[in-house]
Amino acid sequence: MQLSFTGPQSFYNGISAVQEALSREVRKVVNEPQPGINVPFNKPYLTGNEHKYIKRVLSSGKLSGNNEFTRKCEEYFKVHYGAKECFLTSSCTDALEMSAVLLDIQDGDEVIVPSYTFVSTAIAFLMRGAKVIFADSREDHPGIDESKLESLITDKTKAIVVVHYGGVACDMDMVMDIAEKHGVYVVEDAAQAIDGYYKERPLGTIGHMATFSFHETKNIISGEGGMLVVNDDRFIDRAEIIREKGTDRTKFLRGEINKYGWVDIGSSYLPSDYTAAFLYAQLEQLPLIQENRLNIWQRYHNELQELEALGHVMLPAVPEYAKHNAHIFYLVLPDLQQREALRNYLKSEGVSAVFHYNPLHSSKYYKQKHDGRELVNCDKYDDCLLRLPMYAGMSLGEQKTVINKIWRFFLEK
Ligand SMILES: *Cc1c(COP(=O)(O)O)cnc(C)c1O
Repeated sequence: MQLSFTGPQSFYNGISAVQEALSREVRKVVNEPQPGINVPFNKPYLTGNEHKYIKRVLSSGKLSGNNEFTRKCEEYFKVHYGAKECFLTSSCTDALEMSAVLLDIQDGDEVIVPSYTFVSTAIAFLMRGAKVIFADSREDHPGIDESKLESLITDKTKAIVVVHYGGVACDMDMVMDIAEKHGVYVVEDAAQAIDGYYKERPLGTIGHMATFSFHETKNIISGEGGMLVVNDDRFIDRAEIIREKGTDRTKFLRGEINKYGWVDIGSSYLPSDYTAAFLYAQLEQLPLIQENRLNIWQRYHNELQELEALGHVMLPAVPEYAKHNAHIFYLVLPDLQQREALRNYLKSEGVSAVFHYNPLHSSKYYKQKHDGRELVNCDKYDDCLLRLPMYAGMSLGEQKTVINKIWRFFLEK
């Protein structure tokens, strides 16, 4: 398959002017970098309206969840992305746990999960008694290898959980076809995937359910925060109850019943309305944030692609069917030693580049429980992948520092 960057054409043009203007806009509210030092790996971006909206919640006297801003945020996803029903939660981990409860995961059920992901993707299902079957990454991309999924399905398989790594879509037609053929559910862990698309379809609207994260390291943030999207009608009523400690309080809040009570299992997954207020201030500026990030991503790509041509690194591969959201820019080095050499060099030069995801199948907790299959691509990304600093508001100067130092590392090698 032909792999290429398929971002909107406009991002190829006038990148520096636009990036500087957008970054200036964003920097007004983010601390100016100290001259001469560090390019951090991440810097939370603030739109400026967070304080105003939080104040509004404080003076309204309605601090708990499911109030004005909770509904506004949920509405945003329904209107902009066509998500069927949305449930703001305190984290993506919470949303994943809700999905496991809704799918009625029981002891012995099998759930297929990529190994190259954050712990939450697996643990939410494990806590319900599932046996987690870890899948390998693709050779050309850290995302789950869709072509191997079918071989992992047994008569105990209840669900496939896919992660859109770095906001790059998995091949969802393929995943949904396999799931339908075998009667299993699909949960999209879209923690990193806000505003990413699969063939024009927004990520998070394709699987039976999907989960988002608004942790401060993601594109759109609220400190801690998450959301469950339910795209299948059968789960909507119960999702409301699970989020509210097993009660039908949400119906009560809507005035549909005159008292509420305990009707099911559940937990306390609803965030405070001031968390939602923070999030709403972010969502309002999503187009600005995204354009800024895409510019930064594209500049890295342009300025470093010769290193790929020279055989020093592999740049992120984006399948034609995916429009990514510039969540992560990474390099893949030939081996662990070279990855660590570059990482340490950048660190000594004040640039923070990081690696991530010790594969879950070989983690301290799971290694004895894993069925022993080798997951070679996943291990390769664990050893060789390096994430570069990437945040809305990154100045041209900061980015040039990163790019120049990477070039210097290879030229002086
Ligand atoms: C960040 C992340 C999570 C966890 O999100 P929280 O909101 O911190 O619970 C889960 N899965 C993936 C793929 C993530 O990147």
